[in-house]
Amino acid sequence: MMNEIPYKIYLDENEMPTQWYNVRADMKKKPAPLLNPGTGQPMTEEELRHVFCDELVKQELNETDRFIDIPEEIRNFYKMYRPSPLVRAYCLEKKLDTPAKIYYKFEGNNTSGSHKLNSAIAQAYYAKKQGLKGVTTETGAGQWGTALSMACSYLDLDCKVYMVKVSYEQKPFRREVMRTYGASVTPSPSNTTNVGRKILAEFPDTNGSLGCAISEAVEAATSQEGYRYVLGSVLSQVLLHQSVIGMESKIALDKYGIKPDMIIGCAGGGSNLGGLISPFMGEKLRGEADYRFIAVEPASCPSLTRGVYAYDFCDTGKVCPLQKMYTLGSGFMPSPNHAGGLRYHGMSAILSELYDQKLMEAVAVEQTSVFEAAEIFARSEGILPAPESSHAIRVAIDEALKCKETGEEKTILFGLTGTGYFDMYAYAAYNDGKMTDYVPTDEELQRSFDSLPKV
Ligand SMILES: *Cc1c(COP(=O)(O)O)cnc(C)c1O
Repeated sequence: MMNEIPYKIYLDENEMPTQWYNVRADMKKKPAPLLNPGTGQPMTEEELRHVFCDELVKQELNETDRFIDIPEEIRNFYKMYRPSPLVRAYCLEKKLDTPAKIYYKFEGNNTSGSHKLNSAIAQAYYAKKQGLKGVTTETGAGQWGTALSMACSYLDLDCKVYMVKVSYEQKPFRREVMRTYGASVTPSPSNTTNVGRKILAEFPDTNGSLGCAISEAVEAATSQEGYRYVLGSVLSQVLLHQSVIGMESKIALDKYGIKPDMIIGCAGGGSNLGGLISPFMGEKLRGEADYRFIAVEPASCPSLTRGVYAYDFCDTGKVCPLQKMYTLGSGFMPSPNHAGGLRYHGMSAILSELYDQKLMEAVAVEQTSVFEAAEIFARSEGILPAPESSHAIRVAIDEALKCKETGEEKTILFGLTGTGYFDMYAYAAYNDGKMTDYVPTDEELQRSFDSLPKV
């Protein structure tokens, strides 16, 4: 069997993971607790319950249970689009003429086009189980809102999405996918919330921002009976749900006795990377195996490689709890030429702590080199990758080319988080030779660090 590795390694239904893996259980030093921005004290379960569903609050605070059962209804939903394919990139290897063995786990095989559905269905399920009427959220370009609307429609749950106004107007396709799945999509800022009305009064022509959309979504959830707020990345519960990616990968690789030397993923808020590496990181933390883990971020929004490890707001509206993380400051805005996604100012608390303990590496890459990698990948493997995913492709290719120089037959696994069909303006800029790179100056970053909360 060892020599007959198929192009795609699938799992049978009875091999699918039945539990999520909670990497915090194996961390000797745990991520720092969420703090109440008003009191500076750790957020209590009670306080978090005003915003999030009860079961999700428990998962957010759970640092001790190594495994958490995936409820049967969620496993059934997963069966519609999972296992996601684990592909041996034979064609890419050939194109690069590398002795490296490259595998990728492809999460773009569902209508939402990304891994976000793995957590959307879990969050919607627990809201439904609690007897809630619906959930609210924000979305920028729309990947998370799309995933959540699919999950809510499956469970017959109301879904209210606040979409950053400029995306609502300029990116109508994901908006229409959301509406097709029954979600109500409101351009933010809107006059449906106090915070939205206040911002509109002050800045009538604003294009909106993610921070503002978060503030509106939180207000909509906390001011209406039977609603809670849900978030698509950054939180530890989201990493937990995304561990299904890593669990499937590990089961599939173990079947063929394959052990990756390095595992690479793009990092926005850290959920796909955290999910992919979790079970492998667990082995490393327990001293059972060693791997290199590499987080890839945009050079224009470099939270890990140039940020500070400090308590910060998770949103620009400053309504969410404070989290200790690698951050560029909640006021940081990537330059307007930034087209490649992954524009979040902070990073998952779990990944931040693992990075701080030097258990994970990070690299920042510039967007033209990311799109160059996307083009190589699309032409050799056939899949048109999301710009976000292409950050991981860039570093996987770079590592494979290093193997070509040294002659080492390293095994590389990377996360291919999604497809890029709704990112064609960014591809157009690249194809027209109009895409530029931008790296923030130290002074720019310092201005943003100066406004970090003093905790
Ligand atoms: C949202 C998204 C990401 C980044 O989010 P993480 O939480 O860092 O995983 C990456 N790729 C795609 C396709 C996405 O939609």
